[in-house]
Amino acid sequence: MPTTYDIAIIGAGAVGTAIARELSRYQLDIALLEAKADVGMGTTKANTAIWHTGFDAKPGTLEARLLRRSYALLEDYVEQAGIPTERLGGLLVAWTKEQYHTLPSLLERAHTNGVTDVRIISAEEVYALEPNLNRGAWGGLFVPGESLICPFTLPIAYATEALLNGATLKLNFPVQNVRQENGLHVLTGPGGQTVRARYLVNAAGLYSDEIDHMLGHHDFTVTPRRGELIVYDKFARRLINHVILPVPTPVTKGVLISPTVYGNVLLGPTAEDLDDKTNTATSAIGLQSLLEKGRAILPDLLNEEVTATYAGLRAATEHKDYQIRLHAAQRYVCVGGIRSTGVSASLGIAEYVAGLLAKAGLPLRPKGEFKTHRMPNIGEARPRPHQQDDRIAQNPDYGRVVCHCEKVTAGEILDAIHSPIPARTLDALRRRTRAMQGRCQGFNCQAAIVDILARETGQNPEVLLALDRGHMPKPLTLTATDHHAEEGQS
Ligand SMILES: Cc1cc2nc3c(=O)[nH]c(=O)nc-3n(C[C@H](O)[C@H](O)[C@H](O)COP(=O)(O)OP(=O)(O)OC[C@H]3O[C@@H](n4cnc5c(N)ncnc54)[C@H](O)[C@@H]3O)c2cc1C
Repeated sequence: MPTTYDIAIIGAGAVGTAIARELSRYQLDIALLEAKADVGMGTTKANTAIWHTGFDAKPGTLEARLLRRSYALLEDYVEQAGIPTERLGGLLVAWTKEQYHTLPSLLERAHTNGVTDVRIISAEEVYALEPNLNRGAWGGLFVPGESLICPFTLPIAYATEALLNGATLKLNFPVQNVRQENGLHVLTGPGGQTVRARYLVNAAGLYSDEIDHMLGHHDFTVTPRRGELIVYDKFARRLINHVILPVPTPVTKGVLISPTVYGNVLLGPTAEDLDDKTNTATSAIGLQSLLEKGRAILPDLLNEEVTATYAGLRAATEHKDYQIRLHAAQRYVCVGGIRSTGVSASLGIAEYVAGLLAKAGLPLRPKGEFKTHRMPNIGEARPRPHQQDDRIAQNPDYGRVVCHCEKVTAGEILDAIHSPIPARTLDALRRRTRAMQGRCQGFNCQAAIVDILARETGQNPEVLLALDRGHMPKPLTLTATDHHAEEGQS
């Protein structure tokens, strides 16, 4: 591992991992620093999981531009990397006369944003597409490109490709301080450990304003905007065929009802500004308001079983656009305020940030080879291992179902534990395999999964359960050649 990196990236969400992957195409020593025990554990794991076209973005904004670019880049990437997606299309429904009269301006906005396949449809067409919707729709806007994506697989895929192409990932490494010394950024982490780098990218999500302050800037303040969601059981999946969108407001895209790539149905999110960047609890008021909205849109949904509820925090700021700024003299790029669209815009943001770094003098000399990686499929649209006789014949572990709700096999769990960014916690296994995410939420399978994880990693089962309750594990450095360089004590 180098003692001084060419570039350090703070934050391994969808944005930071995408930037690390993009930069790993070039002859650079890259450090990706993440406060949590795994990649993708911030806002990236708690959202609505829509692959947005950007049809409704404010024209002329950086967000609108990068969403469009990212959409095109993702079309190739999700195929190459095996990211679970479903190209269902979105149906924005006008429920009042006033909303109906906004459809032409939304259509015009979509066209201005380059999303030209959007069209206004009649109430009859709305019900032909979605017969279970509540009565009373005036009409709608059909957005064929709005799609579903797996926000769990995506950052792991980006980070894995970054690692395979030479980047170093430091987990459990909350950057506590950034100072300048001899022309380098010196980042201090836990136990006084330091990382030195010539260039710095701040992709710290909710904390991007605080990192920005460490660099002497006060351009924006992140106000966490909580979005609560209800996950319905897979039996609800038959009720809808598309992403059912509301007419957006200036504050929020509104409450939608959408299938997920795992076969559930989501209802949400709410939009509520908080002052606590850690408050991802759901609330009785928030969930109640969702139930009321859900009943108004798709009455039968309320008869379905709820599998889980969760909340995510959008990194909202006082500005109506992403806060991506190059401070060339400091060799620093701030990538903040990536509000409601960062999963979809991640590849566009990464390409843009690489361009900014080049402007600041970072030499982007391509490597001879860029290694790609295909992810295990955890979506319903393609076959899972338990459905593949040839795989089971080669390895009977793919026929041994451990999590019966989500039909996750021992083979998939072992693959996740021994993958380039290994699952070392129960939460990491949930996001890599879907185990413990089904209707029993791990009640039936968690003990067996703890046993496998403990056996394979040599960790104490009690410690694994404690980590799952939020205890801080020890720092862990990963490279493609050395998966398990642990530092310090737990
Ligand atoms: C309710 C809701 C619904 C949404 N729906 C969608 C959607 O449908 N489609 C879509 O595209 N987007 C959606 N989004 C937005 C999307 O989730 C975010 O824009 C995206 O996840 C932001 O990614 P990020 O990498 O910037 O942030 P994060 O995922 O939060 O990553 C930042 C990382 O930085 C780390 N970090 C912070 N401080 C430090 C530090 N000091 N040292 C080291 N590491 C640090 C954090 O631990 C975290 O892992 C939604 C968001 C919410 C909340």
